[in-house]
Amino acid sequence: MKDILQMLKQHSESRGETHAVQHEDETMTYGELETSSSLLAHMIRHTTKPIILYGHMSPYMIAGMFGALKAGCGYVPIDTSIPEQRVQTIIKKVDPDVIFNTSSEELAVEGVTILNIEDLKATNTYKEQEPQIQDDSIAYTIFTSGSTGEPKGVQIYYDSLVEFANWVVELNDNQLGQHWLNQAPLSFDLSVMAIYPSILSGGTLQLVDKKMINKPMLLHELFAREPIHVWVSTPSFMELCLMLPEFDAGSQPSMGTFLFCGEILGHKTASMLLKKFPNAKVYNTYGPTEATVAVTSIQVTEALLSKEKVIPVGAPRKGTSLSLTDDNELVITGNSVSAGYLKDPERTEKVFFDNEGQRAYYSGDSAQYREGQWYIQGRVDNQIKYNGYRMELEEIEAKLKQLDHVREAIVVPVYRRGKVAHLLGVTMTTHQIEDEAQTTHDMKAELKHILPEYMIPKKFVFVDQLPLTHNGKLDRKKINEVYGS
Ligand code: AMP
Repeated sequence: MKDILQMLKQHSESRGETHAVQHEDETMTYGELETSSSLLAHMIRHTTKPIILYGHMSPYMIAGMFGALKAGCGYVPIDTSIPEQRVQTIIKKVDPDVIFNTSSEELAVEGVTILNIEDLKATNTYKEQEPQIQDDSIAYTIFTSGSTGEPKGVQIYYDSLVEFANWVVELNDNQLGQHWLNQAPLSFDLSVMAIYPSILSGGTLQLVDKKMINKPMLLHELFAREPIHVWVSTPSFMELCLMLPEFDAGSQPSMGTFLFCGEILGHKTASMLLKKFPNAKVYNTYGPTEATVAVTSIQVTEALLSKEKVIPVGAPRKGTSLSLTDDNELVITGNSVSAGYLKDPERTEKVFFDNEGQRAYYSGDSAQYREGQWYIQGRVDNQIKYNGYRMELEEIEAKLKQLDHVREAIVVPVYRRGKVAHLLGVTMTTHQIEDEAQTTHDMKAELKHILPEYMIPKKFVFVDQLPLTHNGKLDRKKINEVYGS
């Protein structure tokens, strides 16, 4: 197995001028990535707490990750799109000594050293040091939606990360020096699937930012300008790209491998993609953040598509095994499994356990095993995926209930063609609403301060009463039946 930090060093010596990271006209070569990450590691060498990396798609975010690994403290990535209140909640939980702010936005936190890109550039001396990270150090902590209303920090060991990155490079036939496209914001673990395998294999990481996602023609321009060999995204992002002009093997002959994770890969999406790129390899991979991005894979071919109505998620990778509880909940066991949620023994104990001496995790996914393949069949809880984003409906409801005039709220995912088309807030208020449109507008504006945009319901209905179950709880099932279609 190849070590990530050793390989970065090796590439910086053998291909120092090659671009390691690209984002628009910002680039960072392997030489620069090695140097800037060592500089940062030197600056933060005294901290034992994870550092926070704040920013969007800057190459310095990647330098920050490698710097934190070299220093041995690990990191917590926070994207600039996350609202202030949530950022503060995460910072409070992490309680870092240092924040590396790679954005142009101000971020002041009492008692915390804030470093920015200029500070790093101004420091040009450092003592070469052996990387401090150990196999059992926490490499990164990624915060994900939590049903109590507070996000939870999933901690991933360094050796889980190394094992995962090597596996992805292997899926891509160990090809060296390729261009990897990363779509996911760096605070989502899908980005890990592009960042580390790309650097491990001496490739160039091409970062897609939110501006491009909101304006697909910018993506079209990017694809016309840059050759991409390996694609890492959610299926939802691919659906957007399939509508772009000239998105096919004729215009993009370099495209060789497509890696999907994070949500159901639709039959239609895979089929359209294979028609456009008949010689490319398409992989459906599955996994939760709690098991280092992905633990299963399957190559999706025309033959598979003609045999299967629903695309399976394949078989587990080496070092991880899958099993089912009596209720068909998928259990993931092995080295990929997280160390648990940061400073949250209660929620950790609920879903992580020791399975005959190995770490194990109750995934919350309902699954089935047939003829050597695993199939994901929905959730056993109220977690959903909307446009590739993971969220707990209870977290949105908890935030809705913080609004002054909201008494009760249930958030309903409204499905179209098997996918969540939008979220609907079914709300009981403390007083009669006179102007529903205005109230909806005001509620959305308030929610913007406390929830990421993608978690804010698009529509609201205001009701006098919500149905209850026999034991007096809100009857989510009934509410879903009434409003969910
Ligand atoms: P996240 O932690 O954001 O990666 O979300 C993990 C969840 O996404 C899993 O527990 C599944 O519910 C879902 N998921 C991930 N990959 C797939 C896939 N290939 N097919 C179906 N669902 C998936």
